[in-house]
Amino acid sequence: MAEGTFGTVINCMDGRTQLPLNDWMRVTFGVDHVDTITEPGPNGILAKGEGPLVDSINNRVDISVNGHGSRIIVLVGHYNCAGNPGPREMQDEHVMKGIDIIKSWNFPARILGVWVGDDWKVQVIHDSIE
Ligand SMILES: [Zn+2]
Repeated sequence: MAEGTFGTVINCMDGRTQLPLNDWMRVTFGVDHVDTITEPGPNGILAKGEGPLVDSINNRVDISVNGHGSRIIVLVGHYNCAGNPGPREMQDEHVMKGIDIIKSWNFPARILGVWVGDDWKVQVIHDSIE
């Protein structure tokens, strides 16, 4: 097992979302390291439910959870997303559908959905333990 504690973020490739999520994960959950899986608009990809990109995300989450011992998985939707363009309502819907897919993978982890708005701050929209 790798040294230190890990969390997992399924984030957009958008450079504006990297530091906010990395900082928020370390501060909020006290993890030492944040494994970051990036795709353009990952909430839109996961909301579709299947396909090679979904399988690829699943494989990378598996490495983070089973290789690094992460027990927290966060899916991100964000403001002004070029990879999955659309209004807030659609973004949240895609995050929630994506969370259902992640839950179906049965990893031993807490699963959260978050929104990063035009202030580039992280807001929780779903937490599997609440
Ligand atoms: Zn994006």
